[in-house]
Amino acid sequence: MAKGRGNAPSSAIVVGAGVVGLSTAWFLQERGVEVTVVERNGVAAGASWGNAGWLSPGLSIPLPEPSVLRYGIRSLLSPNAPLYVPFTPDIGLWSFLARFATYCNMRSWQRGMRGYIPVNTDCLDAYDILTENGVESPTHEAPIMAAFRKREQSRDLRHELDLINSSGQHVEFHELSADDARKRSAQIAPNVETVISLEGQRHVDPGEFVRSLADSVRKRGATIEEDFDVVRMRPDQGQALVETIDGRSVRADTLVLASGAWLNELGRKVGIRRPVRAGRGYSFTVPTDAPVNTPVYLPAERVACTPYQGKLRVAGTMEFRKADAPLDRKRIDAIVRSAKPLLSGVSWEERTDEWVGSRPVSTDGLPLIGATRAPGVYVAGGHGMWGLTLGPITGKLLAEQITTGKQPAALRPFDPSR
Ligand SMILES: Cc1cc2nc3c(=O)[nH]c(=O)nc-3n(C[C@H](O)[C@H](O)[C@H](O)COP(=O)(O)OP(=O)(O)OC[C@H]3O[C@@H](n4cnc5c(N)ncnc54)[C@H](O)[C@@H]3O)c2cc1C
Repeated sequence: MAKGRGNAPSSAIVVGAGVVGLSTAWFLQERGVEVTVVERNGVAAGASWGNAGWLSPGLSIPLPEPSVLRYGIRSLLSPNAPLYVPFTPDIGLWSFLARFATYCNMRSWQRGMRGYIPVNTDCLDAYDILTENGVESPTHEAPIMAAFRKREQSRDLRHELDLINSSGQHVEFHELSADDARKRSAQIAPNVETVISLEGQRHVDPGEFVRSLADSVRKRGATIEEDFDVVRMRPDQGQALVETIDGRSVRADTLVLASGAWLNELGRKVGIRRPVRAGRGYSFTVPTDAPVNTPVYLPAERVACTPYQGKLRVAGTMEFRKADAPLDRKRIDAIVRSAKPLLSGVSWEERTDEWVGSRPVSTDGLPLIGATRAPGVYVAGGHGMWGLTLGPITGKLLAEQITTGKQPAALRPFDPSR
């Protein structure tokens, strides 16, 4: 393989222009690597556009846990539930869910949580490095207001936050009376009884952020090739070569697969055995009577709301269907039905930007970040619910590994060969 300084590669291809791929590109450039990003569609065409925009280390935890399993089994019987698993003959899906279920226990959750703590601790600093060095889109600091119709419904979230704190990650939270909460967030409806405020979180306009990350990557000298669908990759004269179906190709010393919910398509060819499936989520935007100051979380309804371009972005649902399946309007209607009673002054009928995107969900709830068994080929993906929060820190740590040849301690739990 051609090398630059020492053993570091001098050029890299990144497949996927989502927040993970572009962050990796940016931090590789920081280390003097010349980067080409190739993307099947366009910048932020995948999950990185319509997500809830939360940078929330306080909630960034492994998805499989005992209550998810109980909830999942109940949801199978309800077509309107926020978790949707279709009855399909797709054996891959059922074996994925069976493997996922084996991680829904406290021991696995605690082990996973220990892996999350170092990256959660540094994830906002990684955002600051980007915004202080040319990425123009800002991050906004604001607490997340978790609103409950009945106080007893808040028990699960409190329990979860206590567990996170007892695992060693500090999350500051306190209960507000509904009146106090309404002073901070006019959207909280009169029939909300209790609000838990989670301090120290941030949010962004995710599409705008990822586009300005792409602009910065371009300004620093990279090419971003859009409409470049990688169908083949192979070693070629000591380098990695990627090709499209019509024979366009790019080569470089090293290759990073950051292809989100499609990670297994190419990952399988370099020995990635752990499945990553699409956990599809929906979002839309609605105007509000009063300004939206802060994110609102409806944990019992599994809905996340965020200030977005002077309006409110509403996001929810975990639907296990194919990543490229069309948007199912029933899921949007279900989100509206569940959120409506808890939010005031929202013009639900005037919604725009209806969107579906695919969270890349792994069986053990941990991302896959690091070297594959193919020399010079790396993966970065599988962040599930928290790829926006963890994208920049992923890029920073992976760029360190690629250019130094040493796996940072914080990436050990996410080793793709685990
Ligand atoms: C409704 C919803 C709400 C969410 N809310 C939050 C939140 O508030 N906070 C948070 O941290 N996370 C959130 N997430 C999760 C977050 O959006 C994802 O984890 C994150 O965007 C994943 O980023 P990525 O770069 O790995 O994947 P993507 O953004 O999907 O990017 C992968 C890219 O790879 C491209 N690609 C795939 N295959 C190929 C190929 N063969 N050749 C070329 N290109 C290819 C795709 O076109 C795509 O653009 C949410 C997700 C959803 C769906």
